[in-house]
This record gives sequence, C-alpha cells and structure tokens, in this order.
Amino acid sequence: MHHSPEVHPTLSGLDTGLLSAVVAGHARLTPAQGLQIFREMPTPELGRWADARCRAIHGDTYRTYVIDRNINYTNVCTAKCTFCAFRRDATDHDAYTLEYEQLLEKIQQLVDIGGTQILMQGGMNPNLPLDWYLELLAAIKSRFPQVHVHAFSPPEMIEFVNFFDPPGDSLYAKIRWVLAKLQAAGMDSLPGGGGEIFAGPVRRKIGLGKCDQTAWLTTMYAAHSLGMFTSATMMFGHIEGYADRVHHMDMVRRWQDRALHANTSEDREEGSVPFGHYKAFISWPFQRDNTPLGRVKDWGAQPTDSGEFPGDVVATLNGDGDPKAHPEFGRRLRTSGTVDYLRTQALSRLFIDNVYSIGASWVTMGPHVGQTALTYGANDMGSVMMEENVVSSAGTTYCLDEAVICRLIREAGYTPAQRNNVYDLLRLHTEPTSPDLAVSDWSTHRLKRLHAEKEPATAELSIEGAAPA
Ligand code: SF4
Repeated sequence: MHHSPEVHPTLSGLDTGLLSAVVAGHARLTPAQGLQIFREMPTPELGRWADARCRAIHGDTYRTYVIDRNINYTNVCTAKCTFCAFRRDATDHDAYTLEYEQLLEKIQQLVDIGGTQILMQGGMNPNLPLDWYLELLAAIKSRFPQVHVHAFSPPEMIEFVNFFDPPGDSLYAKIRWVLAKLQAAGMDSLPGGGGEIFAGPVRRKIGLGKCDQTAWLTTMYAAHSLGMFTSATMMFGHIEGYADRVHHMDMVRRWQDRALHANTSEDREEGSVPFGHYKAFISWPFQRDNTPLGRVKDWGAQPTDSGEFPGDVVATLNGDGDPKAHPEFGRRLRTSGTVDYLRTQALSRLFIDNVYSIGASWVTMGPHVGQTALTYGANDMGSVMMEENVVSSAGTTYCLDEAVICRLIREAGYTPAQRNNVYDLLRLHTEPTSPDLAVSDWSTHRLKRLHAEKEPATAELSIEGAAPA
C-alpha cells in the first residue's frame, strides 16, 4: 500500500503531534523543521523519537549485521581529496594494485568464515583499462558465484567515464553504459562512497570536485535504473554547516522518491528491469589524522574566532550558499564528538523517511557508541570486518568480530541477526550456539584478524561506505 506522507510546514519541528505523525509514517519533516530539531531538541528526546521511528519500521526483536570484506584493489588515485589518507601516486614506494590471485585469495578467506559479500573499491587508477575490471569481475563470479559483489562508488564511476570515454549523449547515458558492462560481468550493487557533503561550496573545498552532487546522485539513479540496490553516505564534522547536513539528507530523500516512483513513470523504459533504490543511509564523522584537511585549525583555536561557525554562515538548506559569506569558511573545522554523531544519526532516521536502513558507525566511533547508536535510530551494525585500509589510514578505528558484534546487539536488548546485502535475514541468533553465546569466557576471547594491505596494519575492519571515494 502506498501513501504519501503529508508536510505541515507551518508547524514547529518540536511539535509532538507532528513528530508522532512522522513516527507513524504519516507526516514528513521539511528541511527547516529538520534543522530546527537538530539545533533545539534535547539529545535524549531526539533519541527517543528516532528510536520510536526505528521500532515502527524494524520492530522490537532483532537488529542486524552483515559479514563482508572490504577489498581495496588499488591505492593509486588521481584525485586528491583533502580528507583522504589512503591515496598514493603511482610512483610512491607504497603504491599498490592487487593481482587477481591476491584478490581471489581474500575472497576465499571471507567465504571460509561465512561471509556473503565483498565491498570492493579503489582509488582512481588511470592505468587500469575497462577490461581489467570486466575480467576481474568475471573471475570472481566464476570462482565464487554465491558472493555478492558490492563494488566501486559514484566518484569511481565518474572517473571511469573520463578514462573509458563510453558512448552516450549525456552523463547519465555514459554512466549507464559503463555500469551495464560491469553489471553484466558480475557487479551486483553500488555502494554509496564519496557522498561526503553534497553542497557545492563544501564539496569544492574538500575534494571530489569532478563528482559534484548532481554527478553523484545521477550515478546512483543510473544504478537504480539497472535494478541495483545502493546505499547513501554522509561524512560530516568538518567545514560544513548544520544546514548542509540537512540539505544532504534532503537530496537523498528526493532522489529516493524519484527511484521509488520510477517504475510507474516514464523514466522506466519498456521491457526494462524494475528500478532498484537506496537500501541504507550511513553517516560518520570525519577522521582527521594523516589527512590534509585534518591540519586545518579547529574553530575557536584563534583569538579572532568569534561569532557563528563559518560553515553555518555559508550553509543554506538549498545547498547554494556563498562561500565568500565568511572569510574563514573552509579554514576552520568543527569536528564531531559522540553527542553530535548520535544527534546527526537520529535526525537522519526521522528525516529520511523513505530509506529502510540506518547504519551505525562503530568503525570510527567505537563499539560502545555503535551500540548506543541502536537506540538513536540505527537498526544495523554494519559489517563484521576482516580488513579495512582507508579509515584506518586516518587514525582511530576499531575492530570487532562476529561474536563481539552479536554481544553488542544483544546487550542493547535485541536478538542479533546476520543479513545479506538486501537485508534479508540469513540467521537469527536465538540458539545457545550463537556466535556470542558460544563464547564461554570473554576475558580470553581475542579478535580474529586477517591480513590488511599494508603490514603491520593498524586495524582490520570496515563499514560499508567508509571506503575510498
Ligand atoms: S577519497 Fe577516494 S577519490 Fe579521494 S583521494 Fe582518496 S582514494 Fe582518491
């Protein structure tokens, strides 16, 4: 049954009648109401509303995780995003591109522990032709037909269009051509990396210049048009204003509306597969270590830093702010702590009413914040991870295995459940043999680790979306 939630733009965002209707799925917040909630609502209250909305969608019984492996096939990248500590030039001594055999070996290790998907992303490496990707995908699918290949990202797609010069008279047509080739070779879905913050003034300052918001969202729509399910991400807590976060969520919501309605609109060609859509939204705070952006001073560090944060002066709910509106815009950071993270995630649950899953970001925030995130609107703990190279290049990351993730979910009051890429439940852990219940002595339980690209690795884990590009 389909009904369109109503908007009530004249009501306060703090109106409990409005919020009850949002929880029930009958009303939708306007961007102005979203911003008001973010700025004014006390944190426990925001958490309670987000939790109520999450329970209305996902029930009270279980919360999920996935077992996948993050494989970064190359760290050679022509882009220079300021928040990235992972990229290398082709001439750097620690630049790498994995051989097919190394990649297949990693997938074998994943399959050995019950994993169901790989998240495969890389830098933008101009030395790799389209055939390198097509043959790789074919090799993966012939050896591991059961493994779901969640691969690449919109910025990589935009770069593929530049590298491979596909036919087509619009960006959409060109991206669709490349995506269709990759899909035919074995790519199953497109992760939401490189979302960062959509608003132009912020995006142009922090990098990913070639993949502006229209290119990013168009790439996702092209993937949806081929029947793929994708995710959307947001990296916040740097130079952006709070209105930029709301604008970002608004763009995801709008394009999701379009994808959800595409099957009954002229966007769907006769005889084509049904459209996919966004399955999940995941947001996390910027990690500063080893990144150029991380060297930017925090707001308040200089005696002349007074008044409103520059990002807030520039930001508008339309994403079209004037970067010259504040002389220090882009030169001061406002990094996120736990409260800011939980508030942002809770708002995303209330605001993005048409995306099914909201993922907790324990990789950067830590396991216990990730666990708390389950009461601030998140229904999914993301990935039990065997390897991560990107966020761990930028400082603090945490590593969890399946038993620990299950324990965190159970302690939060839910039954842990393993899911696949499209959120079907694979195993519901009610039995004494469940990964966490089978651990007899937590004091001696040690995380199982596998290899990362660079030894010694700082950590070996990942979360969907928290990857390069
Ligand atoms: S974030 Fe991705 S695109 Fe940007 S520099 Fe790093 S690897 Fe390259």
